[in-house]
Amino acid sequence: MNINPDWSKISKCGGYKAIYCPDHPRAWSTGYIHLHVVVAEMKLGRFLNAGEHVHHKNENKMDNDPSNLDVLTPQAHNAIHHPERAPLLMVCAECGKEFERKFNQRPKAKGYKNQFCSRSCNGRFQRRLQLLPPSSNRTGHSSTKQETLVESQPGVPINAVVPEVEIGQVS
Ligand SMILES: [Zn+2]
Ligand SMILES: [Zn+2]
Repeated sequence: MNINPDWSKISKCGGYKAIYCPDHPRAWSTGYIHLHVVVAEMKLGRFLNAGEHVHHKNENKMDNDPSNLDVLTPQAHNAIHHPERAPLLMVCAECGKEFERKFNQRPKAKGYKNQFCSRSCNGRFQRRLQLLPPSSNRTGHSSTKQETLVESQPGVPINAVVPEVEIGQVS
């Protein structure tokens, strides 16, 4: 890491401080670069990787003291600034297994009633719902017979609404 930041040339830039360091590989065309990047890199003794974020521990973006800077992954950084967006711990409605759901996949965002750890659990659950005989329509069909009925309609989505059969038509 061979850079020569000019500590006499520090300016403000969009809520952060920037330092003149034209020999930095990520310097802007003006020759400046965010001061917290340079300080964090000198603390680490190496350049930051593309995905690494610098966090200001006391939330003061102007305070670039080495002790105030942390180098974090984007995930860890997001968790600090948006704890409400941490993955939710869910319980699968089919198998009971615990699993994590990303913030943008949470039930409220998707409008799902039931949560499943996997597609196959979802499929099993929907299929069982489909196979439950309606309580008002007990015609003596065995459940195996209904299962064959559902299985023999490959074009119909498993969760499609199947029109109810009139009891009178079944002899
Ligand atoms: Zn931060
Ligand atoms: Zn499951």
